[in-house]
Amino acid sequence: MNFEASKEFALAQDSNDPLLGYRQKFHIPKVNDKDCIYFTGNSLGLQPTSTKKYIEEELEDWRNLGVEGHFHAKHRPWFHYHKFSKELLAQLVGAKPEEVVSMNNLTSNLHFMMVSFYRPSSSKYKIIMEAGAFPSDQYAMESQVRFHGFEPSQAIIEISPRPGEETLRTEDIVNLIEANSEELALVMMSGVQYYTGQFFNIKEITKAAHDANAMAGFDLAHAIGNVPLKLHDSGADFAVWCSYKYLNSGPGGVSGIFVHERHAKNSELPRFAGWWGHDEAQRFKMEKGFIPMKGADGWQLSNVNVLSSAAHLASLELFKEAGFSNLRAKSIKLTGYLEFLVNNLKSDEVSIITPDAIDERGCQLSIVIKNNGRMVFDELTKQGVVADWREPEVIRVAPVPLYNSFTDVYNFYSILKNMLN
Ligand SMILES: *Cc1c(COP(=O)(O)O)cnc(C)c1O
Repeated sequence: MNFEASKEFALAQDSNDPLLGYRQKFHIPKVNDKDCIYFTGNSLGLQPTSTKKYIEEELEDWRNLGVEGHFHAKHRPWFHYHKFSKELLAQLVGAKPEEVVSMNNLTSNLHFMMVSFYRPSSSKYKIIMEAGAFPSDQYAMESQVRFHGFEPSQAIIEISPRPGEETLRTEDIVNLIEANSEELALVMMSGVQYYTGQFFNIKEITKAAHDANAMAGFDLAHAIGNVPLKLHDSGADFAVWCSYKYLNSGPGGVSGIFVHERHAKNSELPRFAGWWGHDEAQRFKMEKGFIPMKGADGWQLSNVNVLSSAAHLASLELFKEAGFSNLRAKSIKLTGYLEFLVNNLKSDEVSIITPDAIDERGCQLSIVIKNNGRMVFDELTKQGVVADWREPEVIRVAPVPLYNSFTDVYNFYSILKNMLN
């Protein structure tokens, strides 16, 4: 595609954008009385205008029915609530519906998955993860390792980019897995790395982990709703994600898990159980003796957080309506345009660390600004750009295809250009 660094070009792209109408389905925050340029959908997605209605419907059912809402809610009976998102989530992560369920929060789910899938022995106990993983994931891995009586410095192997490089090479990840196969219990990586925006090759990493007789798990916080995923076919053992980033389901919104169907019927796997994972037909008999539901449902603990899950459904419906392949097609163009414009600045101070290959990234570009990065960022903020600053010198910018426009991208460039000149 031939891009042009002009406002006219951006406007023309917007008027030809089949998804343009979706911007109106979101509340865009204002800065200086104007729609801001919201590039932090990777951190907290914007609120769909339909969210209020979904939540109000639950408040109405609760108001009118009290406990009867569990089975007789007018809108969505709460007993079945985790089922309403299943099909839509399965499509987004490339799984069978019985392989996914929404529940809890992300870090909690990571721990619950570790209970089942990190089962170290005295000789096979190591975990490979990327260096600089999201802190919560680091804390979770370190505390899990300690919980099993190992030292993080011994048990956790972090993989870093080669000297002079910013992102990881799949071959290096695979080689490291092979080199540690004897002692390796788990490979735990991001789907999309939160800092660099790199989209890892889930299939290759999983294959290498399985060849080493280890489990493969993925944190898809920055991947779900952003990049195409094929979890089932990749063979990954488990995955977790949150819903408040690209999935626009509100701060602290309900998380989700994937458990591959090969583990679906394995009731031998240790797990921390709760009544919502217990056989649904028997659940209200309140009897002793846990019988797990088949598939991911068997990992549920608690009855569903309905208000948060209502917001989740409102947003998932928009994904369904827009179609993920359409969103991805626009995303590739939109981020391609951002990349073109940043390169067009021809500034020695500005560079992109996110991979340029389309299948190695989602919508986010991580832009390094040398010298005055923080000043540039603060000025962008003043001028209505909502982006994200990471020490020491990176601005993360994520144009989201559901509500960002080519004009947003152009205006961002234009502000940045004026500042650098
Ligand atoms: C956003 C994010 C988290 C946040 O975890 P919560 O439990 O939802 O607070 C954790 N890990 C990764 C990789 C993230 O991107």
